[in-house]
Amino acid sequence: MTKTKHTLTVKKVENSKINSVDFNNLTFGKTFTDYMYSCDFVDGEWTNPTIEPYGPLQIDPSARVFHYGQAVFEGMKAFKDASNDVWLFRPLDNLERINKSSARLAMPKFPKDLFLEGLTTLLNLDKDWIKNTPGSSMYIRPFVIATEPAISASPASEYKFMIILSPAQSYYAGEVRVLFAEEYSRAANGGVGFAKAAGNYAAQFYPTSLAHKEGYQQIIWTDANSHEYLEEAGTMNIFFRVNDSLLTAPISDRILDGITRKSIIQLAKDNNINVEERPITVKEIKEAATNGTLKEIFGAGTAAVITPILGFKHRDMKHEIIPASESYASLFKEKLTAIQYNVAEDTHGWRYKI
Ligand SMILES: *Cc1c(COP(=O)(O)O)cnc(C)c1O
Repeated sequence: MTKTKHTLTVKKVENSKINSVDFNNLTFGKTFTDYMYSCDFVDGEWTNPTIEPYGPLQIDPSARVFHYGQAVFEGMKAFKDASNDVWLFRPLDNLERINKSSARLAMPKFPKDLFLEGLTTLLNLDKDWIKNTPGSSMYIRPFVIATEPAISASPASEYKFMIILSPAQSYYAGEVRVLFAEEYSRAANGGVGFAKAAGNYAAQFYPTSLAHKEGYQQIIWTDANSHEYLEEAGTMNIFFRVNDSLLTAPISDRILDGITRKSIIQLAKDNNINVEERPITVKEIKEAATNGTLKEIFGAGTAAVITPILGFKHRDMKHEIIPASESYASLFKEKLTAIQYNVAEDTHGWRYKI
């Protein structure tokens, strides 16, 4: 068990930066609020929780994070409703997941009481940065890095848990067409694919840049063994609609257990849509594309919620998807965001008021 001590220290900013920000022209992930949260793991316990003005860190160059990539992160959002109340979406699922990611990278778990206190205090201090204009939200980035100053190749004894906030408008990924992966892999059996490990993203940048050169925005990763099974989009989980059934790969050690994914599966069940969580072959999706039963492909993740995919390429086959008139992608996006913005009933207890 990790113990906690000390009370939260808050150091106030002298002048808010908020008036220098154009909230109608935000680039995703580039603008940060006035405050940041940090908490240090030293001598086997989390200590010194602090909220202070957002700014650069001073970290020893020998810190393990720089050498061995001992780092994990999360992505979550806060939403402001018409009466200016602020809501999180399934926040304890993010805590549980960052702790699973940490465990896989031999890093300590972060306690629930500190997480909720830090996150809600931070959001309250930066509340004016959360807008309730359509599509606006606060993107929340918790992360943990190994800070112990020593380059021996073993787990660090010191860490920093942090939360930073970035105001976001509705995220439009542009037109997305994908390549089904054949050469490179994102995750392997027994690896770290299920964890939100920083290095998983670094490993995708190069193959994705090759896909960009061919005119594809993303890669759908297949299993590393046979490349016969479609697994996920690397920053999003992936869904296929064949006829009126929704197909998605089952969670495994190669696939990230997305909160958007599992919320969509629940919403599909609520709406009497048949969902199949099972291995999906490249072959069956190509056949469905050929015989006209492949109706939709979409990605699901916190940042964009749902990203419709307009086409794919695999070997010699290029396929364009004709957008469905009553698409599942828009149905789920509407249902999910209505819960997030507190305009629909929350029958599953997903909202969390700060
Ligand atoms: C974060 C992430 C997702 C999406 O998870 P959400 O909880 O829905 O945001 C999907 N795949 C990968 C690899 C991810 O890192």
